[in-house]
Amino acid sequence: MAVSTITRSNGIVISKGNRTIFLDPTHAPPSGTAFVSHAHFDHARTSLTEVLASRETAFLAGKRGIKYGSFKESAPDLKLLDAGHILGSRGLLIDEEIFFTGDFVGRSRAFLKKAIATKCETLIMDTTFGRSECIFPSVESVVERVNRVIADLFSRGIPVILMGYALGKAQIISHYFSHWDPIYATKSVLEMNEAHSVLGVRVGEGFREFDEVMKQGLLDRRPWVLIAPMSNGNGSFIRSLKEKYGVVTIAFSGWAIEPKYASSRSVDFAFPLSDHCDFNELVTFVKECSPKKIYTTNGFAVEFARHLRRIGFDAYPLGRNQKELSDYFD
Ligand SMILES: [Zn+2]
Repeated sequence: MAVSTITRSNGIVISKGNRTIFLDPTHAPPSGTAFVSHAHFDHARTSLTEVLASRETAFLAGKRGIKYGSFKESAPDLKLLDAGHILGSRGLLIDEEIFFTGDFVGRSRAFLKKAIATKCETLIMDTTFGRSECIFPSVESVVERVNRVIADLFSRGIPVILMGYALGKAQIISHYFSHWDPIYATKSVLEMNEAHSVLGVRVGEGFREFDEVMKQGLLDRRPWVLIAPMSNGNGSFIRSLKEKYGVVTIAFSGWAIEPKYASSRSVDFAFPLSDHCDFNELVTFVKECSPKKIYTTNGFAVEFARHLRRIGFDAYPLGRNQKELSDYFD
């Protein structure tokens, strides 16, 4: 087995034998393999001449201005595994030995299947919600509660804005709530919905573009539902819609498990519909992968590594030096 090193410099860099693999690199590496886990800007960060990524990631990144000269979905000893985070998101298994999850989700929802766990020696995992308090309710219960809120508002003629980031969350919201009528969406959401449709995933029907509807003066005919990118309720866009039409805002984020989330974002309601694993899903995933060594990254990386060590795994937050580690794990 070739000795491998895992460092953080241009993304996460794995050197193994005479090979170097750059995971979600920040800039084009001079040589080696560049892997891009999914099309969010904090992962698909730079245009590249050649990339290892899913077809969906290459397409969605291209729609957002990140261009790849060519892409391939597999390579010798490099296997892409479904990560369930957004359409096209993948983890990477290297030599059946090192597994990088990227952002991932341990529950199926809407048109996405849950992440595939696989046995490995070394697991490099996203731990955004790696704190024991971070437990999400079921997707079904969230959808049911949101439908009840919308029904109540509709019965009183009050329009609603559903907010989630334009790529990923907005399509999940579109999938679950497009049965409301009339249903509007902003241009940026419609563009990503259309990109999903091109990739064979229909995320809802009957949408009309918000700007067009506004120009036609139809917003006075209340109620309606608008799907829009996440924004602060105090921003000028939302404020003007509140003043003119009395809209109620509903935000979707895993962070909505925190009671103060809604007030911190100045929204009327917030629901925990997340595109990440919750704490229990993270633990289950680790057990299924059964790795000898684990590196945690993002979010509560230190807390989660500490928890893993308590339950018998050899875990470290990625990129911390030995001195810092002794501070964390005394
Ligand atoms: Zn992401």
